[in-house]
Amino acid sequence: MNSTLCNEHWWSEGLYFSCLGCGRCCRGEPGCVWITEDEIKKIAEFFSLKEREFLSKYTYRIDERVTLREKRNGECVFYDSESNRCTIYKVRPLQCRLFPFWPSLMACKENWEREKLRCPGIGEGEYHSAQKIEKLLAHAPYEDL
Ligand code: SF4
Repeated sequence: MNSTLCNEHWWSEGLYFSCLGCGRCCRGEPGCVWITEDEIKKIAEFFSLKEREFLSKYTYRIDERVTLREKRNGECVFYDSESNRCTIYKVRPLQCRLFPFWPSLMACKENWEREKLRCPGIGEGEYHSAQKIEKLLAHAPYEDL
């Protein structure tokens, strides 16, 4: 990333985003979906699994963090390609709920614009004020999200 292209709060006029439900962010390029201790509890409960069972079946650890597994084709382990839906939508991780208002994407307009190529909901639909965006960013579980 070229830091000279970045300026703080380039989104001060607010931004538009609405999820169009295309499911592209749940498949494609490999990536990590970090889950917190609370989320592990909630999702394990959702499947009526013991945390240990849930962790070994659906996650793996990288250093101190836990991420959801992906299928061989790159889809999130909880993405159902037939219905094009997230099968844990009600208890989906905060990382998914916050998308695309992630620190990494908000750091630079260029990053946001690049993400637009992947997510058709960026630049569409609901208006998010700068104040709202700041609140969402404050909820990011990790700085490097
Ligand atoms: S890529 Fe964007 S529009 Fe498609 S499901 Fe993900 S957030 Fe919604």
